[in-house]
Amino acid sequence: MATAVKQHQMYIGGEWVDGTGDEAQAIVNPATGETIAEVPKGTAEDVDRVVASARRAYDDVWFDATPRDRSEMLLKLADAIEGDGERLADLESANVGKPRAVFLSEELSPCVDNLRFFAGGARLLEGRAAGEYMKGYTSMVRREPVGVVGSIAPWNYPLMMAIWKIGPALAAGNTVVLKPSEWTPLTALRLAELAADIFPPGVLNVITGDGEPVGAGLVRHPGVGMVSLTGDVATGVEVARAASSTLKRVHLELGGKAPVVVFDDADMEAVVEWVTIAGYFNAGQDCTAAARVLAGPRVYDELLSNLVPAVEALKVGDPSSEDTEMGPLVSPEQLDRVTGFVDRAKGGGATILTGGERIAGDGFFYRPSIVTDIDQSDEIVKREVFGPVVTVQRFADDDQAIAWANDVDYGLAASVWTTNVARAMNAARKLQFGTVWVNTHIPLVSEMPHGGYKQSGYGKDMSIYSIEDYTQIKHVMIAIE
Ligand code: NAD
Repeated sequence: MATAVKQHQMYIGGEWVDGTGDEAQAIVNPATGETIAEVPKGTAEDVDRVVASARRAYDDVWFDATPRDRSEMLLKLADAIEGDGERLADLESANVGKPRAVFLSEELSPCVDNLRFFAGGARLLEGRAAGEYMKGYTSMVRREPVGVVGSIAPWNYPLMMAIWKIGPALAAGNTVVLKPSEWTPLTALRLAELAADIFPPGVLNVITGDGEPVGAGLVRHPGVGMVSLTGDVATGVEVARAASSTLKRVHLELGGKAPVVVFDDADMEAVVEWVTIAGYFNAGQDCTAAARVLAGPRVYDELLSNLVPAVEALKVGDPSSEDTEMGPLVSPEQLDRVTGFVDRAKGGGATILTGGERIAGDGFFYRPSIVTDIDQSDEIVKREVFGPVVTVQRFADDDQAIAWANDVDYGLAASVWTTNVARAMNAARKLQFGTVWVNTHIPLVSEMPHGGYKQSGYGKDMSIYSIEDYTQIKHVMIAIE
């Protein structure tokens, strides 16, 4: 029996409203190809009204909310999300194809913890100085919100990315217009339902629709003070360009191509265990995925002989089954993208040690894959595939390992595997990435910043740095004589 198609509305100014346009976006379950919901495709008019309501809420209510007020509301939202875990797991699994059990064990609790951290951070913001820097005057620094923040999210971690965006922005005292990905809006809409009784109307709004006109409309809108985007590098470039017309602040968390540098003295068991997790978590649709293994000359063969069976043992299938470790890709477009990368590599002489093909059926499943016999200049090494595909290269010495690791346009995350502390510290110093893990790959914590170097963007998520990113500082000078 076909599942009922639920019709959604947008959440603007504390009310559930239809879009002003006639078009709806079909939301598809990637494990089955079935349409499970429809959401309004927002229009330029919808952008105008959502920004107006966020602005009103900022001026009338949120401007006077104390850090404690904001903190208490964020803590309530964290509790509400924690209490709604099963429902959120159903939605995220049906909309993104995430294994439900993995969402519950690995994503829900970090989301709740992130929000609780931001709630605490709201009360810790400070200007750095106050004093008499010129005779007869007292100066002080005030740290203030920016106003209305447009938050534009991707499809790979819809709930977590929404929280990384709304948490610091609200904690800092901004009002927010959240635009989820057009493919995966369901948990953002649920988040609005959970927030409805907690925040004053207009403080948190959710508008659905495409990059153009909705995302780009927020970037162009003079009433939006800052835009935060998590997405593709090309989208980041476009957003930065469009934001320049109003000199709007931008916060960009873009793609990645994380190297996993395995020196000859690494603990091989740990490497295999973590690459199997971090290369294929979320079907490899992760900006920090362990996508690019660089192995030392003496461990290369051993690594492959252990990694291939470990990857082949991954349980791929129905996201609602308790023991499923990897679900489908998010969409037919993403399946085509991944297939294209691997087929082109194969055509260029690469060896596919395992995987390398889609799994037949209605869902958008791709086999976990390992690709070898590639050159540093190959597209599959240089560009983000964003699927369950790990490449493995053999380097000759430490200098070549670091040079290859850095030889991509991205700079989001990297890992180094060695039992030699000096080697680890040297690599951590030389790697041009916003996160460097040593003897692990993928864990994140609320207290530490996550964000890119180079074309992976600028601005940080999580940590007190992210809250500060959503503020501006003001010098107030008072004549005292
Ligand atoms: P995307 O760039 O296609 O879309 C991201 C969002 O931007 C969507 O909501 C989309 O509607 C919107 N958008 C598209 N064009 C726009 C425009 N011109 N103006 C304003 N908004 C626009 O990215 P995606 O495919 O949804 O997500 C995958 C990408 O996100 C990958 O590259 C991945 O690495 C990256 N990502 C990065 C991080 C990080 O922390 N750095 C985290 C998750 C995902």
